[in-house]
Amino acid sequence: MNSLRDMFSYIMPYKGRVALNVVCNVLMVIFSVFSITLFIPFLNIILDQAELVTVKPEISYFDLATIVDSFEFYFSQIIIEKGKQKALGFVLGALLASYFMRNVFRYLSLFFITPARNGVVRDIRQKMFEKTMVLPIGFFNERKRGDIISRVSNDVHELQWSILHMVEVVIREPLMIVGSLAVMLFISAKLTLFVILLLVVSSILIGAIGRALKRKSSEAQSKLGTLMSLFEQGLSGLKVIKAFNAQEYQTDKFLKVNNDYKDVLTRLLWRRDISSPLSEFLGIGIFAILIFYGFELIQQGALVPATFIAFIMAFWNVTEPAKKLSNAYYNIRKGMAAVERVNDIIHQENTIIDKPNAKSIDAFQEGIFFENVSFAYTEEGDTVLKNIDLEIPKGKVIALVGPSGGGKSTLVDLISRFHDVSSGAIKLDGVDIRDLQLKDLRNQFGLVTQEPILFNDTIYNNITFGYENVSEEQVIKAAKIANAHQFIVESENGYQTNIGDSGTKLSGGQRQRLTIARAILRDPPILILDEATSALDSKSEKLVQQSIRQVMENRTAIIIAHRLSTIQHADEIVVLKEGEIIEKGSHETLMENAGDYQKLVKMQLF
Ligand code: ADP
Ligand code: MG
Repeated sequence: MNSLRDMFSYIMPYKGRVALNVVCNVLMVIFSVFSITLFIPFLNIILDQAELVTVKPEISYFDLATIVDSFEFYFSQIIIEKGKQKALGFVLGALLASYFMRNVFRYLSLFFITPARNGVVRDIRQKMFEKTMVLPIGFFNERKRGDIISRVSNDVHELQWSILHMVEVVIREPLMIVGSLAVMLFISAKLTLFVILLLVVSSILIGAIGRALKRKSSEAQSKLGTLMSLFEQGLSGLKVIKAFNAQEYQTDKFLKVNNDYKDVLTRLLWRRDISSPLSEFLGIGIFAILIFYGFELIQQGALVPATFIAFIMAFWNVTEPAKKLSNAYYNIRKGMAAVERVNDIIHQENTIIDKPNAKSIDAFQEGIFFENVSFAYTEEGDTVLKNIDLEIPKGKVIALVGPSGGGKSTLVDLISRFHDVSSGAIKLDGVDIRDLQLKDLRNQFGLVTQEPILFNDTIYNNITFGYENVSEEQVIKAAKIANAHQFIVESENGYQTNIGDSGTKLSGGQRQRLTIARAILRDPPILILDEATSALDSKSEKLVQQSIRQVMENRTAIIIAHRLSTIQHADEIVVLKEGEIIEKGSHETLMENAGDYQKLVKMQLF
């Protein structure tokens, strides 16, 4: 029932609108019930069975019986004085008016609840996105992207409907049932018992199916997530899929999950669709007994036909909401499965957060220090970095080299706290980075990743990327340093050119130069370049190298480089192999040492 409580907690901010919705629903029910009672005089006139009341009832105190008696008396007066036709007109007029009011309030109730419903959906989507932005990168390693997207779109959509249904279930339909039952009780207590019987029997049956439905529903939603994930991969890997003639392989994979989804969904709907026929049949069964028994009461003279017909109408007003209620119950079960999938993200515990009294950083003073740092991506997984001790003093350029898979990218990721160390500590100016404000910490770095990450937007916006108060000159300057200005002005709309999804309209080298410009623009105290120049051709690599060397003067930098010729001038070169530092020193000392570094350099010379 936790997910039900969660559903309520999402609605809470809109309690004002929900209250208005309740008020409108109450009014709607009142007018509905009132219109049922109007059918009694209406039918009595039509069936020519109106018994005229000529004695004015004593109005001693205000109760239902007095109201009914007074109504019958005044109504009789109209029939006597103006004739049946006029009286019928009067009843029909009242009937129309009350139906009109009923529908006005029906609309108003929806009018008030709609913004609340859509607001809830907006809030949930927003929360999910915000959470996605702050959760550690490691969280997403374990998950399929398509599944997360499916949760944001399909599960939230599912939730939207169940919330609407929930408002019906909790408020409107029960009110309607209670109101109609009151009329029925007023007419005949005996007959009403049958109707209550119906409700009990059907709710037991329906409850059993509902439980199975929730299980199936979460299974279906997770299958849909896998499906979306395959689609997403199909789109992003299109080039490789075609080049390797793997369309069939990929399509078969999709087909299998697609079929699974179809089957699960079919079983789900089979169960859900049983609800309507079941409740309709139950309804007609009770209806038959009702007619049978009602007829007996009429013959005994305990009931007049018009009253009996009004009773049946009230009964109809119970079965319809009861049917809706059972449908809503199914949808809520489905919605609860969706809430669980949504909450799995929203309530996901974030391990990389600010401590309660996290320190802020005034200015970067001394350097970054690794103290006996070890790291593994998962608890069971291999230790990717082992007992790393490393100093990155302010103003120095440190180069990380070594065979691929050695842990270079992982090491720099730890500095920005994309992951937290498994043991040991990383300190910035003597303070453990876990005690610093995350925002401050990340502001110290300008990061250029191994694979250029760009967004479907203009070149200009990709360089500024949320960085405010920058002038166009600064952007151009950064682009020039990154050796990107030339190709930018040559492109279709200059800085306002859209670069497509992940920058597909650009070459690899152009993409990387944009990410360098983006890092340079922010003028960060520490620059981190993870094989930033590996995607460039040797001509632009030289140019970028040159400019990077310029920006790096008096700046702290960590450069990961594949081509060793580009980092010879670094203050210190650190060779990382299988997660361990095996050598460090300047280019000259390392060459003299004749160790791994020298071997790597020699290998690249040929
Ligand atoms: P480098 O940048 O030196 O080529 P990485 O730091 O990328 O090396 O990788 C170091 C090791 O960590 C490799 O063995 C790789 O398989 C592993 N690794 C990298 N990223 C992840 C990840 N997200 N989850 C689990 N293991 C990873
Ligand atoms: Mg790497």
